[in-house]
Amino acid sequence: MISRSPSSPEENEPVHQVSAASNPSLPDLPGTNSQDPLAPGELLSTNAMSDSHVKTPEAQNATRRESPSLTLPHQPASSPDSLIPVRMLNEFTYCPRLGYLEFVQGEWAENIETMQGTFGHRHVDKPDRKKFASPASKSRSSKTKVDAQDTSDEKIHARSITLSSEQEGIVAKLDVLEIDGTRVTPVDYKRGYVPEIPAGAYDPERVQICAQGLILRENGYDCSEGVIYYISSKRRVTIPFDDELITLTRRQISQFKTTAASGNCPPPLEDSPKCPRCSLVGICLPDETNLFLHQLQQNTTPSADTKECLDNEQESKTQLRPIVRVGLRKLLPAKHNALPLYVQNQGAIIGKSGERITIKVKGEEIASVRLLDVSQVCVYGNVMFSAQAISELTSRGIPICHLSYGGWFHSLTSGLVHKNVELRIHQYAIAANPDSSLKIARQLIAGKIKNCRTLLRRHLAESKHPVLKQLAEYYRRARIAGSAETLLGLEGMAAKEYFSELFKLFPSHPDFRVSDRNRRPPRDPVNAVLSFVYSLLTKELTVTLQAVGFDPMLGVFHCPRYGRPSLALDLAEEFRPLIADSVTLMAFNNGEVGPDSFIQRAGAVTMTDAGRRSVIAAFERRLETEITHPIFGYKVCYRRILEVQARLLARHMLGELSTYPNFLTR
Ligand code: SF4
Repeated sequence: MISRSPSSPEENEPVHQVSAASNPSLPDLPGTNSQDPLAPGELLSTNAMSDSHVKTPEAQNATRRESPSLTLPHQPASSPDSLIPVRMLNEFTYCPRLGYLEFVQGEWAENIETMQGTFGHRHVDKPDRKKFASPASKSRSSKTKVDAQDTSDEKIHARSITLSSEQEGIVAKLDVLEIDGTRVTPVDYKRGYVPEIPAGAYDPERVQICAQGLILRENGYDCSEGVIYYISSKRRVTIPFDDELITLTRRQISQFKTTAASGNCPPPLEDSPKCPRCSLVGICLPDETNLFLHQLQQNTTPSADTKECLDNEQESKTQLRPIVRVGLRKLLPAKHNALPLYVQNQGAIIGKSGERITIKVKGEEIASVRLLDVSQVCVYGNVMFSAQAISELTSRGIPICHLSYGGWFHSLTSGLVHKNVELRIHQYAIAANPDSSLKIARQLIAGKIKNCRTLLRRHLAESKHPVLKQLAEYYRRARIAGSAETLLGLEGMAAKEYFSELFKLFPSHPDFRVSDRNRRPPRDPVNAVLSFVYSLLTKELTVTLQAVGFDPMLGVFHCPRYGRPSLALDLAEEFRPLIADSVTLMAFNNGEVGPDSFIQRAGAVTMTDAGRRSVIAAFERRLETEITHPIFGYKVCYRRILEVQARLLARHMLGELSTYPNFLTR
């Protein structure tokens, strides 16, 4: 059965589940299976965390001894040999940060405007077979895909021609060329209407068409003007290539090359009306990034504030907590349109039919879902895929998460790795540097302890409970921990105190008795669910980090180990109490899981199919829960928050933000 609306836990999960139990007027923009080699608990790092989970200074030094210091090449996009696509020159003129994100970091995202643009170009993007004469220029130095075979005098229209200019350092795919002998006029198709401005077009479009003209000139053509065709207006606007426009175009090319070679992403625009229309707004996070940049400029350094969090009033005055920006523009949708598809029918075959993903069991189709509505496919145990389904999913950037029958997340099938090489270069450099790694790890572990304290504060009857004071002290010390070993010790002590109180909040049913955190395998139902949900959270963050451009296998706190997504485990720390522990508590206290949801075997506890299904539904509901962001002040769901935090981590690793701003709830 497939369902996707909230409210009833059993009937209306905001996920696609298939289970055995259910048989289920600005310019255009451009787990628990003891037989598994590694149980879900392996992905955990709570009070049972061992030294092997954390980069101790000795381990870091050993790593450094084994591998010499990392020498980092500069990003290839900044090479002087790189030709800049004139489409990206348009983006750079619109916003330098946009040009950098697309050209250097390889970022791309669709929005309604880019989709309308693609639709408007559907005819001119198809190359035609017309042949036409090229000028007999002996000085031509650039390469062209155009054959010079026709010498007729008739005016010719040619579509989708790729030409380059090595002298200018640019390359372009020209929509249409109107050719009259050696005189040519490039015609660029734009969605939308003709802007009511004297120049007839905005600078990004004028620069783009002029750059096309410069390419044509270098290829020996006589080109003195270009045409922008506005599809909605069905009108042509002629753009003369005068000295002023040529100077502007060459200046933009030069500035773009300098910016790309600098390796520094330009800052976001301030309160710009361009941002809401920008397809990269969810990647750039302009207002959110500016908020942190301004705050970091105004605040003292975080380590200077060491007396916070001793009680609620003092906590609210902490300097590390950014000022809530009431009225911050909400440029991100609160939720994603697509959701995960879970399949746990053993022997099911996932295929593709048209624009839908189908699930068949013993030849009978039991469910199908539109590809558009799927963000990831998660399969438990023996579920098979057709070649067509794998090809379609990976080419659309929809990852396939493979989990064991017991819930161990062990593999990921995806398309090519993200183009953002620059981010991974910085990630590897930070992972190789103990000080830089510790700085991030302190934020993550302090955030985890603080969020654990917040969860307990919400549930404990006594507002002055000793455990709250103790966790506040661990939080304070974690933020200034001088080594990874100290941080590990603080995290372990905080986890012990936290779980001893958390377990008292579970129902007092004899079947649910729990005394301590245990795993590999879990020995009671509460720990079985905790391990399973931690595995789900790790899976979610692995997918998110990979989509942002990270290598999820290399972390800053958890040691790299074969097959373990260490960075996902790192980022999961601050979300364990908010998402995983909270889901587990609700699942038991709401009766979503009961004694029938578990199987006990030789001291180990595992979940039934129905039990897993209920927990997955609870987990997905939690991710879709909208909360008011404690810093940005707008409503956003937890799944989006995971993505935002991953992007903020990227901003820190790339040097844009001096501190990773952890996610703390009130
Ligand atoms: S969101 Fe705004 S600042 Fe960011 S790239 Fe787009 S236009 Fe530039």
